[in-house]
Amino acid sequence: MQRGTFQLMKSVNKSIILNKIRTSEPISRAQIAKQTKLTPPTVSSIVKELIEQDMVRESDLGESKGGRKPTMLLINHEAFYVIGVDAGPDSIHCILTNLSGEIIDRAESKLQANLSNAKFLEVLINSIHVLFRSINNRDKIIGIGVAMHGVVEVDTGTSLIAPNLKLSNIPIKAELEKEFGLLVKVENDARAMALGESWFGNHGELTSMMAVNLGLGVGAGIVLNGKLYHGAENIAGEIGHMAIDMNGDVCECGNPGCLQTLVSGPAIAKRANRKTGEEVFQLATSGDQDAIEVLEETGLILGIGLTNLIHIINPELVVIGGGVSKSSAFILPTILSTIEKRALTMKAKRTRIVISELGDNATLLGAVALLLVELFEPL
Ligand SMILES: [Zn+2]
Repeated sequence: MQRGTFQLMKSVNKSIILNKIRTSEPISRAQIAKQTKLTPPTVSSIVKELIEQDMVRESDLGESKGGRKPTMLLINHEAFYVIGVDAGPDSIHCILTNLSGEIIDRAESKLQANLSNAKFLEVLINSIHVLFRSINNRDKIIGIGVAMHGVVEVDTGTSLIAPNLKLSNIPIKAELEKEFGLLVKVENDARAMALGESWFGNHGELTSMMAVNLGLGVGAGIVLNGKLYHGAENIAGEIGHMAIDMNGDVCECGNPGCLQTLVSGPAIAKRANRKTGEEVFQLATSGDQDAIEVLEETGLILGIGLTNLIHIINPELVVIGGGVSKSSAFILPTILSTIEKRALTMKAKRTRIVISELGDNATLLGAVALLLVELFEPL
């Protein structure tokens, strides 16, 4: 699909119909008209266009209610591709998926230390080119989604601050659009992860959810009514910098006692006097009591942070992902017992807290979902 065609897709009624088919497939034209309150002629003419554009296909598996079986409609998931990128801090992962998020191909490039903006963009562009080589029909790629750590200005697709790479003001969207001639969306990595969980995590229909990424840093994404919440200046969800201990260690942001100085992978390692969070996890798994205690305390601190969030956002679900979530056997019980003890109401005490089942793919699939939102969701 050319860029022009993609832009054309974004009529409101078309998005409403596409999203209805996606969430309710198989569905008939009559059911779409009834459920969206669009007129049957409008539905028919838009569905005709969608079929011509290969986005939707017909199936004959309608329910029989005595008379003629209605023709059912399905999304043609195999017709188009999306590229999702998880950029940094130490490598660039790219995936190529179809419209249902099924991963068709992958590429990975390592990032060297002390990069310049130009070098970072060069590695990023080359990784994406690798995936392009594996597809015959490039017109079928609808766009590229990029998940980037740090502060991202979403409108311009610029990485304003990428602390782990020590870079700033990287014009990711502008450079990728120039190189590939496709729509490019750039988002903070924890927010992309939240969107990935919301689209592909099998959590059911939710009006509010959060995903917390526990890795080298700590961040979160908030999804309200299917949409990412950014806040006024794109810093909503920066929970790594929630103050927990006003006399604590100084964080990279300059403030003392941020959540991230206590529960990120490196912070856990430091508290346990070990080299990496991974090492602490291995020791705990082999029964080392000190390591187990550090992880249990990590769960308690996280429980305090999550209780604060529950009191501010009150989400139906919190999904925990990132490297640290692999030690869920040690941290989850104390997370749950802390929330149970501290949250204000009975229902808040029982807020659903789950570990991501998408694992490392959550952020990548979220990058893909950045484009799917453009395609399927009403403006
Ligand atoms: Zn901080």
